[in-house]
Amino acid sequence: MSKIKIAELFYSIQGEGRYMGVPSIFLRTFGCNFKCQGFGMPRGELSTEADDLASVHELYPYPKYENLPLVTTGCDSYASWHPDFKELSPMMETSGIVNRIMEILPHRRWEDEHLVITGGEPLLGWQRAYPDLLDHPKMAGLKEITFETNGTQKLTPEFKESLIKWKITNHQLNRELTFSVSAKLPCSGEKWEEAILPEVVCEYEEVGTAYLKFVIATEQDFADAECAISAYRTAGFKGHIYLMPVGGVESVYSLNNKAVALIAMKHGLRYSDRLQVPLFKNEWGT
Ligand code: SF4
Repeated sequence: MSKIKIAELFYSIQGEGRYMGVPSIFLRTFGCNFKCQGFGMPRGELSTEADDLASVHELYPYPKYENLPLVTTGCDSYASWHPDFKELSPMMETSGIVNRIMEILPHRRWEDEHLVITGGEPLLGWQRAYPDLLDHPKMAGLKEITFETNGTQKLTPEFKESLIKWKITNHQLNRELTFSVSAKLPCSGEKWEEAILPEVVCEYEEVGTAYLKFVIATEQDFADAECAISAYRTAGFKGHIYLMPVGGVESVYSLNNKAVALIAMKHGLRYSDRLQVPLFKNEWGT
């Protein structure tokens, strides 16, 4: 039986991208190869909010995710990768994860809900465990999965094969596999050469539908997105492109959501909202 370190497992509405509005189970794995400390910061500056909260946590531990403060800058899911919060993420056997999913599904079985495997970076270390999870008999009715990834992790040959098999098993279900790739632009604080890896993302299109989602706030960010789009298209990427506003909290999101929607319209690209911010204030577990 495989195990996965689970930062969060909850039921909500997908707030972003292709499945916006679809009732979804979110499985948030622990661990990420990035920190994204540049989000919401002036260019060239890095947020220290996650590290500051880690110092507080060391002195006065937050007992659960629900107690953790939200941040206005940097990665809004910092506790899913920051090593100082790792004890809040239990290592769970896949059968335990499946049982918990059944408990929180409205009808105690899969119907029209979709599964979002997110992070952290969900393709970083857990690819070997997903086949056990997806092949569990109680997961047989699942029709749609999205991996929310930063697009830097290659699929192992074994995992790739298991995903192709998953899609065609129970073929009457018309299963759909999606990679929602939030490629990190310089405004994230990550380095271009480590974040923009078109050949990795093109490989996702061999097993499912992939789309790119660029988080931006300004025209300068969009200029970076255009360079990235050109690199992905040159490599052969065929999927849709979404622009999504920076902002894990309403005060930041509402500053730039309309401007980003207008940039998307001007350039004929898709706009992705982040419905979890206006609907649920982006609290943990939403
Ligand atoms: S890639 Fe995603 S989870 Fe990882 S640090 Fe960046 S925003 Fe956070």
